[in-house]
Amino acid sequence: MEPNKQIVEHEAPRGASVVIIGGGVTGLSAGWWLAREGVDVLVLEAGLIGWGASGRNGGGCSHHHSPLFLEEQRLWPMMDDLLGYPTEFRPNRIRIALNHEQFQLYRRALTNGAHHGFRSDVLDPRQVRELVPYAGDNVFAGYFYHFGGHANPHRTLQGYAWAMQDHGGRLLQHTTVTGFEKNGDKVAGVQTTRGVFACDHVVIAAGPHTGELAAMLDIDVPLVAARAEMIVTEPLPLMAIGGVDGNGLYGRQTLRGNLAYGGGPHEWIDHRDMRRERAHSTPLQSSIAARVAALFPKVAHARVIRSWAGFIENTPDGRPIIDRAGGVANVTVATLSSVGFGLSPASGRAIRDLVVDGACRFADLSTLSLSRFVQLEPEWKEMQGWLPLPAGLI
Ligand SMILES: Cc1cc2nc3c(=O)[nH]c(=O)nc-3n(C[C@H](O)[C@H](O)[C@H](O)COP(=O)(O)OP(=O)(O)OC[C@H]3O[C@@H](n4cnc5c(N)ncnc54)[C@H](O)[C@@H]3O)c2cc1C
Repeated sequence: MEPNKQIVEHEAPRGASVVIIGGGVTGLSAGWWLAREGVDVLVLEAGLIGWGASGRNGGGCSHHHSPLFLEEQRLWPMMDDLLGYPTEFRPNRIRIALNHEQFQLYRRALTNGAHHGFRSDVLDPRQVRELVPYAGDNVFAGYFYHFGGHANPHRTLQGYAWAMQDHGGRLLQHTTVTGFEKNGDKVAGVQTTRGVFACDHVVIAAGPHTGELAAMLDIDVPLVAARAEMIVTEPLPLMAIGGVDGNGLYGRQTLRGNLAYGGGPHEWIDHRDMRRERAHSTPLQSSIAARVAALFPKVAHARVIRSWAGFIENTPDGRPIIDRAGGVANVTVATLSSVGFGLSPASGRAIRDLVVDGACRFADLSTLSLSRFVQLEPEWKEMQGWLPLPAGLI
């Protein structure tokens, strides 16, 4: 990799065969999959790439409940070679249960993994402490999943962008999409703060903003944004396996040694608030830090040196939407419902298939379709209790 390589932006020509809205991992992975086949692709990003959840997440790559799981697991070990840039992917995951309830809950990954032919081992407390030197006497039990893993979100995101550009794909940052120009049942152009970009096909991959953009085309994408936080400790000596979580947390040890962890509860917010406030962290970081200290008592003294908040897109049933929109002939919608980082190698490939071939060739995406929400109650947010808190309470 070239250490000082910069993102280079290209102004001309205006328009592209495929215009992708959103420079997160979903949009950039799709852009890369398309560009590597010679498709003329342009990614439009309102801010900087990775400014959304894609640059603020836990880096987990273990989505055993998804129809894209097998492709996720197949692709991650190859991503450094495929992209030509490092992702810092590390395989496998250990999950520590501090009580019986957590042990039962974390069994689901073992069951789902086994369904797809992946092995998991149940660990007794002594085995957990042997594998995880920072674990303590409070361990109830654990699991060693021989699948999944984690990667560095920033490295990965940058890798997608550079690899897409290496194949001729283009990226424009600080370019907000504001509307669409239609010609019959097709989108002919994408209106932005930097003018109109003509296109043959549009991919809307704008994270929590996917719903508001799709609504401009009368496409209903039910979504709620949730605010989540992460903390990072000072660097500690590297554990042999950096992908350790549990105790209601997700996260990893970075290659520099920092423990980077997040965990609920997530706070429902109005997506319009994302651009104004609330990207700062709150007292929730103390709760996360306390849970990290309980997970790793031997390093409970480690100082927290950073924290941040991010905004997660959530569909009513918690599963992604990756589909061609019904009413408009040349639009693909992709919003990942909180599992978008790990699935990004596979989701990008699925979007490529939908755009070029009209259907995904390697996985059954029927459970990720838009049509599953046709009967959705208009008051679904109220029914699920997914209502924003008043600003003063955050
Ligand atoms: C704290 C936290 C921890 C997480 N942990 C994990 C994890 O361990 N594993 C995992 O798989 N997932 C995790 N996630 C979820 C994951 O980060 C997201 O699912 C994923 O990043 C979504 O990527 P995306 O590209 O679809 O959307 P985003 O990252 O939200 O990107 C969308 C982009 O679209 C841009 N945009 C919006 N509107 C417009 C517009 N009008 N014009 C142009 N651009 C626009 C935004 O600026 C943004 O950059 C976590 C998320 C958070 C916040």
